[in-house]
Amino acid sequence: MIRPGKMILQVLQSLFQKPATTRYPFVKAPMPKGFRGKLRFTSERCIGCRACMRDCPAAAITIRKVGEKKFEAEIDLARCISCAQCVDSCPRDALEATPEFELAQLDPTKLKVVFHANLADVEDEPATKT
Ligand code: SF4
Ligand code: SF4
Repeated sequence: MIRPGKMILQVLQSLFQKPATTRYPFVKAPMPKGFRGKLRFTSERCIGCRACMRDCPAAAITIRKVGEKKFEAEIDLARCISCAQCVDSCPRDALEATPEFELAQLDPTKLKVVFHANLADVEDEPATKT
C-alpha cells in the first residue's frame, strides 16, 4: 500500500513534470510517417485502369470516366477501412493516404467524397452546323 507521504510527494512532482497527454483537439498531434488517413486522388495521374476498385476489400472506391482520358473518384469513407491497398495497387500514384484522420460525420451523405476531374481544359464539342 502506498504511504500518504509518498503519494503527496508524487502529486507535487507531477505538477512540475511534462504531461504525458496532449491537449487534443486544441493542439494537433503530428501523425507518424506512413499513417493511413483519408485518401487523396489526383485525377491528372489516373489512367482509369480500375486496379484500385478491383483490389479494394471494402468496395469503397469507384472510378468513373467523365471525359476523354478524364476520371473522377468517389470514395465512401463509411466503407473504407484505411488499408491503403488501393494506394499500393495504383500504377500511377494517383491515390495517396494523407495524415487526415478526423473524418467523423453526423450526416452520412458527407462520407461520400468525390474527387472531380479538372474538365476546364477539355474543349467544348464543336457546334453542329444546321
Ligand atoms: S488504380 Fe490508379 S490509375 Fe488505376 S483507376 Fe485507380 S486511381 Fe486510376
Ligand atoms: S484504403 Fe482500402 S478500403 Fe479504403 S478505398 Fe483504399 S483499398 Fe478500399
